[in-house]
Amino acid sequence: MTAGSAPEVLVVGAGIVGVSVALTLQQQGRQVLLLDGADPCDAASRVNAAVVSTSSILPLAGPGLWRALPRYLLNRDPSLRLRHAQLPGMAGWIARFLARANAASVLATAHALTPLVRAAWPAHQALATEARVLGHFRQTGWTKLWRVPRGPGHRAELALMQRLGVPVQPLDRAGISALEPGLAPVYDHALHMHQAWSADNPQAVGLGYLARFLALGGQIARAQVGRIAASADGWLAVAQGQVFTAPHLVLAAGAWTPRLLGPLGARLPMVGERGYSAHLTTPGLRLSRPVIDVSRGFVMSPMQEGIRVSTGVELAAIGTPPDLTQLHLAVAAARAVLGDADTALPDWRSGIRPSCPDGLPAIGAVPRLPGMWLATGHGHIGFATAPVTGAILAAQIAGRAPPVDAGPFDPARF
Ligand SMILES: Cc1cc2nc3c(=O)[nH]c(=O)nc-3n(C[C@H](O)[C@H](O)[C@H](O)COP(=O)(O)OP(=O)(O)OC[C@H]3O[C@@H](n4cnc5c(N)ncnc54)[C@H](O)[C@@H]3O)c2cc1C
Repeated sequence: MTAGSAPEVLVVGAGIVGVSVALTLQQQGRQVLLLDGADPCDAASRVNAAVVSTSSILPLAGPGLWRALPRYLLNRDPSLRLRHAQLPGMAGWIARFLARANAASVLATAHALTPLVRAAWPAHQALATEARVLGHFRQTGWTKLWRVPRGPGHRAELALMQRLGVPVQPLDRAGISALEPGLAPVYDHALHMHQAWSADNPQAVGLGYLARFLALGGQIARAQVGRIAASADGWLAVAQGQVFTAPHLVLAAGAWTPRLLGPLGARLPMVGERGYSAHLTTPGLRLSRPVIDVSRGFVMSPMQEGIRVSTGVELAAIGTPPDLTQLHLAVAAARAVLGDADTALPDWRSGIRPSCPDGLPAIGAVPRLPGMWLATGHGHIGFATAPVTGAILAAQIAGRAPPVDAGPFDPARF
């Protein structure tokens, strides 16, 4: 954007999704103003495990959920923590989520996500090359580890990956030890996905994209948007006395998006799946790639800051005080498998995954609100799919066909 020129597009939210959308639009010659009330890429986009994998096609709701439900409800499974008093307020989302816990819905979601996650790495690669942050990425693959013997869940997952053409290598104990000799031999079997990249600092990647956006003439303003309304020539965003206007407005405010959209009468069933992360920094810990301990519900990923341990899901309303139960469990389990004798809880952070009940993001035009666009709901794959989301939305705003089938992500499905 040149100084003094009016923006064509306002993008609300400077997480990895908003920044990627803004950069892609600016690359295509749009004048973009990015708005965020906090530091850019400092929320979910900072704390994540930074995995970009073609295998990220499975929703959380699957047939196996029913067997695990009693454990979940009693907060006995480390991968999910519930705030029981808040469940009635999420009843609509939970009902939709549970309705999809069947094999047919899993297949439909996996089919919808496959083109998106296949396009995720090429889209990151293009932005990261232009932004000169490609060095943060490595193709190490991504490994799912189970402590218990192979069960129906493992077999179903393997069959689905093979059916959808995702390269996957089953590993036994010896294979796991050969791949990751730094892990204690507690894992019975694994699935190793070769087509997976990861970043060693997802926030640095996002800030690199932001720097490129600014270098191309894009602008960013510190502005906590409190209200959005239609204006004579498009949309206005009101932020503590400041008013910003543009013909197009993209809502990419992560888990906060429904708060801005709700007053306009548009439906977006989304909850926040909070996750926590902390770094193990004891010298000598060995891990070459991101891995997930499926049995204990946590991820370990080598990062610039140390080995990042990140938790599963805490279903909690925005603003709920933190509950470190899952992080304590995850850090203790990670230390045990990595051979880390430290016992103090490291510095930690949390982030909220913006999640739709069908496990699909909401990307595209908001029904009945011309010029209003959504880029949110990416749940567990927002770091991976932010750049391809930018490519989809930039095409849609320009009236062109998007680079991948975005029909399943249409906000009109709600
Ligand atoms: C523990 C954990 C591990 C994860 N691991 C992975 C992974 O390995 N791979 C992967 O692909 N994804 C992963 N994810 C998911 C990924 O981090 C998210 O999907 C992604 O970061 C969402 O990005 P976002 O830009 O939508 O939201 P955020 O990063 O939350 O950004 C939203 C931004 O909007 C701003 N905002 C909100 N309201 C307003 C307002 N009213 N006015 C102005 N600004 C506003 C906020 O300040 C914030 O900067 C993980 C998430 C967590 C929590």
